[in-house]
Amino acid sequence: FVHRSLNWVFSMTEIKAIGVVGGGQMGSGIAQLAATHGHQVWLIDSDPAALAKATDSISSSIQRLVSRNLLSREIGAIALQRLKFSTDLKELHSADVIIEAIVESEDVKRKLFVELDKIAKRSSILASNTSSIPITRLASATTRPEQVIGMHFMNPPPIMKLVEIVRGADTSDETFDAIKILAERLGKTVICSQDYSGFIVNRILMPMINEAFFTLYTGVATKEDIDTGMKLGTNHPMGPLELADFIGLDVCLSIMKVLHSGLGDNKYAPCPLLVQYADAGRLGRKRGIGVYDYR
Ligand code: NAD
Repeated sequence: FVHRSLNWVFSMTEIKAIGVVGGGQMGSGIAQLAATHGHQVWLIDSDPAALAKATDSISSSIQRLVSRNLLSREIGAIALQRLKFSTDLKELHSADVIIEAIVESEDVKRKLFVELDKIAKRSSILASNTSSIPITRLASATTRPEQVIGMHFMNPPPIMKLVEIVRGADTSDETFDAIKILAERLGKTVICSQDYSGFIVNRILMPMINEAFFTLYTGVATKEDIDTGMKLGTNHPMGPLELADFIGLDVCLSIMKVLHSGLGDNKYAPCPLLVQYADAGRLGRKRGIGVYDYR
């Protein structure tokens, strides 16, 4: 017990600087959350336009939280000073924890983990915000699989209370403890999942969203009735199609493909309508059009 407690104290004092890779909707929210909780943060994206958008969305999100009295004006202002933006991964050489939040593709993520393993200091923990890809496969791209872990935030990270932590086959207890403490210090409740495609939340949520697409595709009901049915009938705050637009249809489709191939059951086959919308670039709110038109 004493050994574990010491580890915890050690972890708490160690994690100061945080790196986030991928400045889209999740990465920018995670960077904001870490900065408002006292961390120095580098946010890296390969696309300068994404960084410009992240800068705007973080400052307007902080303003909204301040105006709703969910964040003090002073902490909001300090957080903005603690955040740095770059396209250069090398800025992450001294980060204690690096959280990856790039596109949901195993190949692209594995390439990034190879790079991060070279750049990050030996003690740093490499975490992935993947929604569905087994952590063991990302960890095996590095020379430090015991320091690789899933840290799955929900959307939007500054607001949603959950972090799902996923242990890869080789993730050490020290890495798990450090990330659990970090998540709790960021104000989150932690759940722990074994390393199987989709983990807990998306294993259950995505088949529901996919089934909502099948319900629309087969003409059972209109999109409005499907969403109203699930909102009022099951007390969900958002209908499944509205939620799919919020998450991003490309992200939903990638997760269904990971469930389908990883769990090997045809019940996870993506609905053809979801595939068609994603092919058409109807990716949801972030593109102004998905199942619904926001333009
Ligand atoms: P997004 O498309 O909004 O953002 C992805 C960002 O990553 C883009 O800005 C892109 O330029 C950048 N990027 C891509 N490849 C890169 C690379 N090699 N190096 C640096 N930057 C790179 O996606 P998102 O919705 O923020 O999702 C990001 C991750 O978070 C995915 O793994 C997704 O599954 C996961 N996730 C998403 C949600 C959600 O609701 N959208 C929720 C939880 C987890």
